[in-house]
Amino acid sequence: NDVSGDSIRRRFLEFYASRGHKVLPSSSLVPEDPTVLLMIAGMLQFKPIFLGKVPRQVPCATTAQRCIRTNDLENVGKTARHHTFFEMLGNFSFGDYFKKEAIKWAWELSTIEFGLPANRVWVSIFEDDDEAFEIWKNEVGVPVDRIKRMGEADNFWTSGPTGPCGPCSELYYDFCPERGCGDDVDLGDDSRFIEFYNLVFMQYNKTDGGLLEPLKQKNIDTGLGLERVAQILQKVPNNYETDLIYPIIVKVSELTSVSYESANDQAKTSLKVIADHMRAVVYLISDGVVPSNIGRGYVVRRLIRRAVRKGRSLGINGDGEGNLNGAFLPEVAEKVIELSTYIDSDVKVRASRIVEEIRQEELHFKKTLERGEKLLDQKLHDALSMAEKTENKPYLSGKDAFILYDRCGFPVEMTREIAEERGVSVDMEGFEVEMESQRLQSQAAHNVVKLTVEDGADITKSIADTEFLGYDSLSARAVVK
Ligand code: ATP
Ligand code: MG
Ligand code: MG
Ligand code: MG
Repeated sequence: NDVSGDSIRRRFLEFYASRGHKVLPSSSLVPEDPTVLLMIAGMLQFKPIFLGKVPRQVPCATTAQRCIRTNDLENVGKTARHHTFFEMLGNFSFGDYFKKEAIKWAWELSTIEFGLPANRVWVSIFEDDDEAFEIWKNEVGVPVDRIKRMGEADNFWTSGPTGPCGPCSELYYDFCPERGCGDDVDLGDDSRFIEFYNLVFMQYNKTDGGLLEPLKQKNIDTGLGLERVAQILQKVPNNYETDLIYPIIVKVSELTSVSYESANDQAKTSLKVIADHMRAVVYLISDGVVPSNIGRGYVVRRLIRRAVRKGRSLGINGDGEGNLNGAFLPEVAEKVIELSTYIDSDVKVRASRIVEEIRQEELHFKKTLERGEKLLDQKLHDALSMAEKTENKPYLSGKDAFILYDRCGFPVEMTREIAEERGVSVDMEGFEVEMESQRLQSQAAHNVVKLTVEDGADITKSIADTEFLGYDSLSARAVVK
């Protein structure tokens, strides 16, 4: 059986197509929905249908949706299963079928189409969803000790502070035989389990006031992580070693002369982060987002900057031999583009513009980075010797973090990361105070339009906080509130 990523995607879509679903294209990473910054899930393009604002064109549909989740940024390369960019395969019912079919088909897809051993699949349900419990137990025949009731945080899905939502039921794969396990069962323990499929029984709309009002019709919204299923079926230890991503890691390995197999954990993480971020960056730029200091543009900028930094930590442009002059990310991007055929066929058409945008941004950042690195290095050195003298914990002041941000373009998250690598903490509150005072100053000076973005993800807070008011490009598409 073909277990390549491309074939898993195709088999999923065909499975649901043969059960009456219309195969629809992925929508852009830039949602039409003005309340959401980026495409975080397959359901977003159908939100108006779920809410009953737009009539359905078909009773049910299936997609392979490209997604970005910036709230998982810190997990990238550290957990085996999180990316900023990933593909979510989904099947959707617009008031057509509901719980029973959704559950039965998910089971059939997992155990028959994908051939997962039935005794390796565990399921979670929302704590008081007895209906789902009965279906799993009686209709599917899952033993009750493999059906776990979980709380709102895990098993009540909402796409944001408001909007369509409902209880969900998730499928987990058990790696115990390969990876070992104790007696306690915790589906959240990712050394043993991986969540790969989420079935949302979308029957409420969460209002501004936080009330759950029943939707006119009961819908199904699901998401299956392509890279996660690839990990399971390809029998590799993490998503990064699947055929969807590993070729990019190999490319970075060639450029850095750091081989993945013999790399230590930190270097492995760096290789994974670069591969992940470049996937996100290529698809974001393809969908029209350009690096900038606000909104979506800031996401791209931050991802590129993190990738450059990780590249440097692997020796690219360091003082060693065999340095690449200029930029290395364009070569990584070329590899991402090569692999893009079945994810988004437009990427190849736009390749030269994408690569050029990345080159410019990397070169631009390198200049400021070199200045900033010297400054930060000196500040960290001062902080460490001060701490030694006073016997306090070493820290970097908010003011210094702000100077690095303001003059050298160092995102504060990056300053914090570098500082923490050297055991120095950063006064984030002090940084916020500096940011606020700059904001007030520039507002007074320019009376700038306030651009904010909102969604449930954490990043939007820092984006809203770090918007540049004044002198840099305001060209990125952002939501005007
Ligand atoms: P997790 O608990 O592992 O963070 P989640 O519960 O946040 O996942 P859902 O919102 O339920 O994820 O999304 C549906 C599916 O999309 C998940 O079951 C998973 O297969 C996939 N998925 C979610 N987030 C990511 C990610 N950051 N990288 C790769 N796949 C993801
Ligand atoms: Mg998550
Ligand atoms: Mg989860
Ligand atoms: Mg989930």
